[in-house]
Amino acid sequence: MFKLYNTQTRKLQDFKPISEKVGLYACGPTLYNAPHIGNLRYFVAVDAVVKSLRLFGYKVNCVMNLTDIDDKTLKGAREQGAKLKDYTKQFGEIFFEDLKKLRIDSIDKFPRATDYFAQMRELVAILYKGGFAYVADGSVYFAIGKFNGYGDFAHLDKEGLKVSARVDNDEYSKDNPGDFVLWKADPHFDAGEEGINTGNFSGEEYEITEKGRPGWHLECSVMSRELLGQPFDIHLGGVDLIFPHHQNEIAQSEAAFGKKLANYWLHCEHLLVDGKKMSKSLGNFYTLSDLEQKGASPDEFRFLALSSHYRNKLDFTQNSLLQAKESLKRLREFAFKSAEQSKQDSDKFFATAKDNFIKALEDDFNVPKALESVFSTVTEAYKNSYFGSPAQEYLSYIDQVLSIGLKVNTKGEENIIYEGEISQEIKRMVLEREKARQNSDYGLADRLRSKVNDLGYDIKDEKNKIRISKK
Ligand code: AMP
Ligand code: ZN
Repeated sequence: MFKLYNTQTRKLQDFKPISEKVGLYACGPTLYNAPHIGNLRYFVAVDAVVKSLRLFGYKVNCVMNLTDIDDKTLKGAREQGAKLKDYTKQFGEIFFEDLKKLRIDSIDKFPRATDYFAQMRELVAILYKGGFAYVADGSVYFAIGKFNGYGDFAHLDKEGLKVSARVDNDEYSKDNPGDFVLWKADPHFDAGEEGINTGNFSGEEYEITEKGRPGWHLECSVMSRELLGQPFDIHLGGVDLIFPHHQNEIAQSEAAFGKKLANYWLHCEHLLVDGKKMSKSLGNFYTLSDLEQKGASPDEFRFLALSSHYRNKLDFTQNSLLQAKESLKRLREFAFKSAEQSKQDSDKFFATAKDNFIKALEDDFNVPKALESVFSTVTEAYKNSYFGSPAQEYLSYIDQVLSIGLKVNTKGEENIIYEGEISQEIKRMVLEREKARQNSDYGLADRLRSKVNDLGYDIKDEKNKIRISKK
């Protein structure tokens, strides 16, 4: 059984799923900018958690929401004079492109907040009827004093706590907790004009203006319940979301339905750049395209993101990126080498290696520890010439979680058939091309193929063979 650290209890706990399929909800991006590498570090962590759970044998239903309406997106759209949908669309596209480049492909559903307006209004009404909410200035607020245990999750110091009356902003600090907004009056916002379906909601017990929209926290309470039920198993987010976002999700969902929201809460630490918080004003703010322009590949960034435990801060530096590049290269070289026949029986060796890999993950998804085991496996394998299919199978196994292109899809020397006399130079180029393909460097692979063609030779890729012949 694996253990995971639960922010709610501040303890490492054994995992006990609610049912056969593990329900997992991860707070997703706010669609007001291109994801920065801090966000991406978190998305990689979510992907590794889901893939680890699947490696452990669980079925998983993973939901990540898209916040396409909140203070930030509305401000951005207004500044650009754009419709909210058009404004958020551009960032949604970049987000999905980045996920693809980073091989983050374990998430099953990406609900958008604007598709759940009716259900959100429903939840506001339930809270109002239950006596947990009140109306002021056309908005509806959650009365934190009415929810027993408000602040427990975020460990708010209740003794010296100064509670401000009400907070309208989606984000605020632990120093001024207050009644937070569930449904915010906004004279400039018209859901109908924005093409948002508000449903046939009726039965509101209170008078509020039609021109309004949900608070950010409400969105996650609703989408998680709609898609996973309540309670569900695991809730994920970055550490900055513990307060107020997750505290408020808990208050809303548990007050409304008298049930726990989620059984385990995981929080991913932040990425720093050169030891500092990333910010546009410091000029240390990067997106994935910025890194690509500097010559780093998405796989190198993914490797770097994996190399630090999700509960530790990750310091992004030029040097750490270079180290990731080198480490990835070593693994890819081994993947290439593994296409050679093994000179030794290595089944047992790789079975133990797999065991070490999964055991590390079972310890609160300790990917860095798993990677350590991978590197010692590779060193030993070189020492003993353990290559061939057991090595390839091991690489496919670990790549189910790491997803850094270790699945061997190239052919080794024994799969290359040379028809007639072929010079050493051509043979070397053909092997180089295979290596480039292993590294997903298809540009280089294509250039090498053209070069071989220009020198008067054909390369034919067949199912399990490559055939080289004179034209
Ligand atoms: P946002 O798009 O701002 O709503 O953030 C999406 C996710 O990224 C949230 O779970 C945040 O907690 C997380 N996040 C934001 N900044 C960082 C950072 N510097 N490092 C790691 N995760 C972050
Ligand atoms: Zn959320």
